[in-house]
Amino acid sequence: MLTPLEIEELSTSFESSPPQEILTWAIENYWPQIALSSSFHTQSMPLLHMISQIRRDTLIFFLDTGYHFWETLIFREKVASEWKLNVLDLYRDARWDTFVRGQVRTLPLDDPNLCCFIHKVQPMQKALRDMRAWISGIRRDQTTARARAKILELQDDGLLKVNPMLNWTKADVQRYMEEHRLPTHPLFEKGYRSVGCAPCTTAVGVADDERAGRWRGRGKTECGLHTEMFVKKDARAIETMR
Ligand code: SF4
Repeated sequence: MLTPLEIEELSTSFESSPPQEILTWAIENYWPQIALSSSFHTQSMPLLHMISQIRRDTLIFFLDTGYHFWETLIFREKVASEWKLNVLDLYRDARWDTFVRGQVRTLPLDDPNLCCFIHKVQPMQKALRDMRAWISGIRRDQTTARARAKILELQDDGLLKVNPMLNWTKADVQRYMEEHRLPTHPLFEKGYRSVGCAPCTTAVGVADDERAGRWRGRGKTECGLHTEMFVKKDARAIETMR
């Protein structure tokens, strides 16, 4: 087991490493208690492709919020099937069902933070309870919050977050996609360069930031998986789900 200081030093040394090297290290050292999370949009393809080349039985969490575009669900099935990926769908806790059904159309617009907590943050917290490492595909060039992230981040509960794509740019993603002829999400050509849930995603212009269409005009840029919302667990809610 690495100490927090050793993890910090390793994280610094990984700043000049390719994602494949970081992924290989993480899988070798944390298998089988390691999982990747993916939203299966175009920007996710390089990381998923690398995993399929390194260890295709790596567990991949997909948050099935119930609000996805049908194109996302079909694309997810196609990619997972063709690359023989080990995907596990995560759902909200059933105890939210009555509450959500009562306001299923308005919840994402009226209270997107609560909606994201119910459909993304809490299911991911629960799924990661038995894991020692969590691989995410975030990049520093995506948001200001992500710009501050580190390649290895040790959480207080001992979970190691691994961000192998952190130093890649939009251009790196595009280059890898072209080199390996990777498929793009069906909505990509229609201007959806970052695809989340349907009520919270719009197409963007060519000159726009790739995530400009996420929660557009609502003062929100992150779902909460990569912010304080994730780290500050609702201990009571998690405890009742054990
Ligand atoms: S992205 Fe929108 S619809 Fe999806 S969980 Fe968050 S608020 Fe709800």
